[in-house]
Amino acid sequence: MMKEKIKNLAAALKEEVIQNRRHLHANPELSYQEYNTAKFVREKLEEIGITGIEQKAETGWTACIEGKNPHKKVIALRADMDALPIIEANEVSYKSKNPGVMHACGHDAHTASLLGAAKILHQVKDLFEGTVKLIFQPGEEVAPGGASLMIQDKVLENPRPNGIIGQHVMPFIPVGKVGFRQGIYMASADELYITVKGKGGHGAMPETLIDPVLIASHLIVALQQVVSRAASPKVPSVLSFGRVEALGATNVIPNEVKIQGTFRTLDEPWRAKAHQKMLQIAHGLVEGMGGEVDFEIRKGYPFLKNDPALTAKAKDAAIEYLGPDNVVDLDIWMAAEDFAYYSQVVDGCFYRLGTRNEAKGIVSGVHTPTFDIDEDALEIGAGLMAWLAVAELEKS
Ligand SMILES: [Zn+2]
Ligand SMILES: [Zn+2]
Repeated sequence: MMKEKIKNLAAALKEEVIQNRRHLHANPELSYQEYNTAKFVREKLEEIGITGIEQKAETGWTACIEGKNPHKKVIALRADMDALPIIEANEVSYKSKNPGVMHACGHDAHTASLLGAAKILHQVKDLFEGTVKLIFQPGEEVAPGGASLMIQDKVLENPRPNGIIGQHVMPFIPVGKVGFRQGIYMASADELYITVKGKGGHGAMPETLIDPVLIASHLIVALQQVVSRAASPKVPSVLSFGRVEALGATNVIPNEVKIQGTFRTLDEPWRAKAHQKMLQIAHGLVEGMGGEVDFEIRKGYPFLKNDPALTAKAKDAAIEYLGPDNVVDLDIWMAAEDFAYYSQVVDGCFYRLGTRNEAKGIVSGVHTPTFDIDEDALEIGAGLMAWLAVAELEKS
């Protein structure tokens, strides 16, 4: 039986997937600079015996594993390969050897898992019908998003997949479990860059100045009404400012204040309207107080919607593979993910792989210097991806 076969292959491959993950973890590369990572992935794919590997978006790859009747249906599996500018704080044998760069979002696990899935699928390709398209992409963490570049480079053509599945580690879900959500799952994310300009000078003579610090303080408070008043309570929205820069002193008012933040939501028309609202409030308030404002909104990834039918099928297949107790439902997650670009073109399913283990002290969130995964998750990471692809091809 196919499921047992895949489970056995995944168990046999576990050590290899762990070793690959450790190699990637120790040698992280920043977004769009994944040259050694890409080289490693290509070598592994060739070792497996996969042919027809195509380079995409400079440091990405795609390749097909054809089963019997390869044109019947195509399902794509995607992994991202980039790391983050974080100094790793974990004291582990596979600690980052690249100072200031760390796989703190688990993309090492995604890449190692997909390599494992590829090896499994290559070994069972005479037993399924259709084609599995592998996608290894660069630059998930940094705009414009490696996914958008891969799509521009025609990764979703020739053959065009009928659906695409992506896997991401989740440190809030215990190892052994996975999570799914049908429909809207993750947020759009836009970067906000505001400069409030006034007229600086001696702090003892406010009557001669236009104080950008006071104006910026009012502006930060006023903009919150976009999410508390202008937004429908039915549509989640987040407005957060994480950086305020006023380079004065106790007695020096600076000429300008810079503010950076993020706006996230789950609705495209509202996203556009919110942008207009923020600009309107900023101009009205700052100019009303005698200052000037530059307000740049850099649009980031769109919201991520999981195709309900594809996701329902994948969830059922996961229940078959792991049992009902090990498949959980996910809540909306206001982070963004460039997988959203694929899911705008073809049906997508982005699911979560549990990597938490409190007994081992593995509890840190992604994007932190102490992030790590319980590597026991990798056997599922590789096996389940292979199984979901096969299940999707067969149940059609
Ligand atoms: Zn990340
Ligand atoms: Zn990530």
